[in-house]
Amino acid sequence: MVVEGAVVCRSSVVGLGVLSVVAESARREQVGLGRSVFFGVQVQKMGAGMSARSGERPAAVPSASGDTSQQTDFKSVSDDEWRKRLTQQQFYVARKKGTERAFTGEYWNTKTAGTYLCVCCKTPLFSSSTKFDSGTGWPSYYDSIGENVKSHMDWSIPFMPRTEVVCAVCDAHLGHVFSDGPRPTGKRYCINSAALDLKSEKQ
Ligand SMILES: [Zn+2]
Repeated sequence: MVVEGAVVCRSSVVGLGVLSVVAESARREQVGLGRSVFFGVQVQKMGAGMSARSGERPAAVPSASGDTSQQTDFKSVSDDEWRKRLTQQQFYVARKKGTERAFTGEYWNTKTAGTYLCVCCKTPLFSSSTKFDSGTGWPSYYDSIGENVKSHMDWSIPFMPRTEVVCAVCDAHLGHVFSDGPRPTGKRYCINSAALDLKSEKQ
């Protein structure tokens, strides 16, 4: 289901200082989601250990949140906290595995050069250099940045297994990845605009 009439606006102006303070307080409260060990992955070290694939640009895009992303356990942030930080649409998509309607999101037709960050934790997820026009109405990429995007099987639709992709740092639902993408990877990351925050190169 898609939330109709949801207000879509960007939360990129949330002060990172405030963000880290809120996240830290949430961490101290030890508010668990019960799914915090979804992948059992460690918080990524931004810019370290990333593999540049297929001759693409190096993936060492600095994290907008700097060192705080390595210190904050985003997976322990409660739904109540996420509701405060995100718009209704962003929360529905990123934290509740929702899907925005095709051709309605902010970035499906965006050509701006830059880096697409996780709307929740600001981890760099996709580069505009890998964005392509898939005709689906959702922003699509043929590769992700480093190991910042994780995938697993999604059986939410019976008899139609899909591969869900999530942010490796905060488990935000991003969308799905399919194997009908263009070269060089052949992958098609079909992502919800509401899960992304574009940081243009001119900023
Ligand atoms: Zn994230």
